[in-house]
Amino acid sequence: MPILVRQAAGTQPPVKVLFVSDKVVEHIYSPSIATRYADVSLAVGCGDLPYYYLEYIQSVMNVSLVYVHGNHDPEREYLSDGSVVTGPMGGVNLHGQTYRSKNLLLAGLEGSIRYREGLFQYSQQQMWMNVFVHLVPRLLGNRLRYGRYLDIFVAHSPPYGIHNGDDRIHVGFHAFLWLLKVFKPRYMVHGHRHVYNPTEITYTKFHQTHIYNIYPYKILDIEVPA
Ligand SMILES: [Zn+2]
Repeated sequence: MPILVRQAAGTQPPVKVLFVSDKVVEHIYSPSIATRYADVSLAVGCGDLPYYYLEYIQSVMNVSLVYVHGNHDPEREYLSDGSVVTGPMGGVNLHGQTYRSKNLLLAGLEGSIRYREGLFQYSQQQMWMNVFVHLVPRLLGNRLRYGRYLDIFVAHSPPYGIHNGDDRIHVGFHAFLWLLKVFKPRYMVHGHRHVYNPTEITYTKFHQTHIYNIYPYKILDIEVPA
């Protein structure tokens, strides 16, 4: 069942963005997406997805792809032709980076709270460092260059206390709450928290930010700033 969220029209037509996370959706991993979602112009992966799935979306829909890794992402994915990839080929890894597409400013942070050995996991303190060392300087640069910090914050994990879980694997990050309060993105999207109960909350307004749990996908019409 497609989930479509429409925002009020801005001065320019909104950009339709496909967000995916955590689970391969059969009707998206299908040639029909080229026509079904022909008006989508940007795809965003929020982690814990096979790289071939993200590459498929990008190539069949012929759109730009940005992504962050989830805690279940492999260090390497072995393809049928024998090649090895560390992420979806052709996609932009948004971790600790900012990226401008269709005049939308995106920034991202990968991973979940650290709960075992392995990649793409961070302690609360390490995530604070990711925010301060990698994102804050780039967001300040955006402000100077474009007049605003960012429009969409992309993460795998939710913020602390919002859409997160009580267990040690699904607890969210405190640093994200600070980032949202200070830099005021219009949107935050995340995955990591699987939704099995239809009454579970997957949308929250926090200060000026619309926060969506993307699992397993959502399409948002996002206003483009003038
Ligand atoms: Zn996860």
